[in-house]
Amino acid sequence: MSGNAARLQAIKDVEAYVPPTVSFSPTETPGAIFGENVFNKVVMRQRLPKSVYKSVVATIEHGAKLDPEVADAVASAMKDWALEKGATHYAHVFYPLTGLTAEKHDSFLEPVGDGTALAEFAGKTLVQGEPDASSFPNGGLRNTFEARGYTGWDVTSPAYVLENPNGNTLCIPTVFVSMTGEALDHKTPLLRSQQAMGEHAERVLTLFGHTNLNHIVSFCGPEQEYFLIDRHLFLARPDLLNSGRTLFGAKPPKGQEFDDHYFGAIPERVLGFMMDTERELFKLGIPAKTRHNEVAPGQFEIAPMFERGNIAADHQQLLMTTFKSIAKKHGMECLFHEKPFAGVNGSGKHVNFSLGNDELGSLFVPGDNPHDNAQFLVFCAAVIRAVHLYGGLLRASVASASNDHRLGANEAPPAIISIFLGDQLADIFEQIAKGPVTSSKGRGTMTIGVDTLPILPTDPGDRNRTSPFAFTGNRFEFRAPGSLQTVAAPMVTINTIMADSLDYIATKLEAAAAAGTDFDAAVQALLTEIINEHGDVVFNGDGYGDAWPIEAEKRGLANLKTTLDALPELITDPAIALFEKYKVFNAREMHSRYEIGLEQYVNVIGVEARLTLEVGATVVLPAAVRHQTEVALNLGALRSAGVTDVDLAPLDAVSAPIAALRSALATLSDALADESAHEAQAEAEHARDALLPAMLAVRAAADQLEALVADDLWPLPTYQEMLFIL
Ligand code: ADP
Ligand code: MG
Repeated sequence: MSGNAARLQAIKDVEAYVPPTVSFSPTETPGAIFGENVFNKVVMRQRLPKSVYKSVVATIEHGAKLDPEVADAVASAMKDWALEKGATHYAHVFYPLTGLTAEKHDSFLEPVGDGTALAEFAGKTLVQGEPDASSFPNGGLRNTFEARGYTGWDVTSPAYVLENPNGNTLCIPTVFVSMTGEALDHKTPLLRSQQAMGEHAERVLTLFGHTNLNHIVSFCGPEQEYFLIDRHLFLARPDLLNSGRTLFGAKPPKGQEFDDHYFGAIPERVLGFMMDTERELFKLGIPAKTRHNEVAPGQFEIAPMFERGNIAADHQQLLMTTFKSIAKKHGMECLFHEKPFAGVNGSGKHVNFSLGNDELGSLFVPGDNPHDNAQFLVFCAAVIRAVHLYGGLLRASVASASNDHRLGANEAPPAIISIFLGDQLADIFEQIAKGPVTSSKGRGTMTIGVDTLPILPTDPGDRNRTSPFAFTGNRFEFRAPGSLQTVAAPMVTINTIMADSLDYIATKLEAAAAAGTDFDAAVQALLTEIINEHGDVVFNGDGYGDAWPIEAEKRGLANLKTTLDALPELITDPAIALFEKYKVFNAREMHSRYEIGLEQYVNVIGVEARLTLEVGATVVLPAAVRHQTEVALNLGALRSAGVTDVDLAPLDAVSAPIAALRSALATLSDALADESAHEAQAEAEHARDALLPAMLAVRAAADQLEALVADDLWPLPTYQEMLFIL
C-alpha cells in the first residue's frame, strides 16, 4: 500500500460526504426563537412574585445585595422553568484560567428516603456550588489541603438551558473562587473591575451634572475570526488534532493573493453551518449579527452585537463551544487557533469596547453641544492616559504562545500598544495640547465649553487597521486579542486602567471645584495636561511600517514581542499597586496569573515540540526515505541496464533535506531531553529559545521535502487540500 493511503482516503471521504440539511423553516422568524432557552427578565417577570422580581432586577442593575429568600424563590422558579424545557440536570458553568469553559453537572433528582426521588433545587444550591475542581490551574493559590474551589452565581448573567440530544441541562453562569475568596477564574476579576470602573465613571459624570445615574458598565462587542476545514482532512493531520495548528506544510501555489475569498460568496456548506449555529445562538439569546468570509481561504468571521462586558464574555465562550460542536455535525472542524496555517493570515478577536448605560448610550459618542463634547473629550482623554500608562498590561492581557505567532507579523497589530484617533479627533487633541494660548498662529486652540467639535465620522471608511487600539466613531477597538482567547482578560485590564484614569480625572476636577475654579477652565487645563503627558501614545501612521518600531522606541513605547517579554508586566510594583487599589486582584492573585501564563506557555510549546518530533520521525521521514529509496533503485536500474552517465542529481536533491531533517530532529530531541531548567521562567525561556527554533528547523526540512517527494507517497493532507476543499 502506498504511503499516502490515509490522505487519499480522507479526500475520497470528503467527496462522498453529504452535509446534513439545516432544520430551518422559512416561515420561522428569528425573533420567535430569540432567547427561547434563556431565563431572562421577561421569564422572571412572568414567573416570580413581584417583590422577588424587583429585588433580582435591583441586584442585576444596581449591584444590590441578594437576599437569601429571594434566591430560594428564584431557584424554585428556575427549576420549574428548566424542567418544562426538558432539563434533567443543572450545571454551574465557570471559566477557569485554562481559557476554556468548565461545568459540573448535577441531577435535579434527590432521593427522599422511601425509594423515590423528587426534583429539588434550593436557593443555596443556585447561589453556591462546590465542584471538586482541584486540577484547574491556580498558580499556587490553593494548596492541596485547601484544594476546594467554590462557584458562586453571577446574578447579572442569565441562566439558560443547553440542548443536547441526550438530555438538556440548566446552565448557571458562575464565578470560581478559592476557599479564601481568591479568584481562580476570569469572571471574578471581570465583575470586580466592572464595579471599579463604574464607580469612577459615575464620579466624573456627576461632575458633569448628571443626577440619578444608572450604573455605568462597559460594553463589549467581540469579532471572532475562525477557520473551517473538512473534518476528514483534519483527522489525517495529527498536528492540527493535537495542537490546533499545522506544524508542517509547504505554502500552497495558490494562497490568498487573489483576495478572491474576502467578503466573497459564502460556500453553501459553510452557509448551512452558519445558519445552524445562528439558530442555536439565537435560542441562547446571543445576538449573532454579521457574518462574512475573511481574508484567508477557509477563514470566516462572526460579530455578535455588543453587550455588557461580563455577558459578552459568557456569550463569547458559549459561541465558541457551539461553533465547535455544530461544525462537527456538518463534517467540519472549526479552528480557533491564532495561526493554524503558517504563511496564511491568522485569526484575531477584536474587542470593541465602550462605557455607558441604557440611558446615556456610549460615552464615546461626541455630543452636539460644547458641554457634551467636553464630556466626550474627557472620556477619550481617560483612554489615552490609560493606554499610555498601562500599554504593557494590555499587551500582557493578550499574551499567549499561540497569539505570539500573529502579533507583529503584519497581519495583526504590532506588539507596540498605541492609539489611533483618526485625523479629526487627533487634530482636536493637538489643538487642546496647545492650551489656552494668546497667539493665534496655526489652527489655534480649542476652547472647552465654547467650541463645538466638527462632525466626526461614526464609521470612518479609511480606518487604520494596523493600530492595536483604534477609535472607531462610538467605541474603541482593541485588535490585539487572539481568536482563541477569552475576552475577559483584556476587558479586566481595560476596566481597571479606565478606573484609574477616571479616578484621576474625578479627583482633579473635584479638587478644582472645591477651590472654586471654573469647571470649563478646569476641564481645559486637565485635558491639556493629559494630552501633553500621554499624547505620545497616539499614532495615526502605518503600524506595519519599518519606521514605527524605531519611532515608538524614541517615544518610550514598549515593544513586548513575545509572551515572555509581556508576562512580567503583571508583577511589576505599579501593576500590583494598580490592581490592589481597585480591588480587582491582590498581589497573590497577580502572581498566580503570571505563573499560570508561564505554565501554559511551556505546556503549549512542549506539546508542539513533542508532536513535531513524532510526526517528523514517524510520518515525514519514512515518506522521504521511501522516495529516496525509489529514486536510488531507479538510478541503479538504469546503471544495470548499461547507461553509463547516470545523473545522480535527483538523489542528491532529496538526500540533502533528508540529512537536514535527521539532524534537526536530533537537535529537537536533545532540546526536549534537556531538563536543566526548573523555574517556570527558565523553562519558558528554554521553550522560546531552544524548542521553537528547533521545531522551525524540522519544519523547514520537511516542507522542502514536501515539494520533492512523489505525491503518491506524501502522507499528510496538504495546505492546498485543507484550505480549498470545503
Ligand atoms: P469591523 O468593521 O471592525 O469589522 P464589525 O461590524 O465586524 O466591524 O464589528 C463591530 C463590532 O463592534 C460588533 O460586535 C458591534 O456590536 C460592536 N460595537 C458597535 N458599537 C459598539 C459600542 N458602542 N460598544 C462596544 N461595541 C460596539
Ligand atoms: Mg474590527
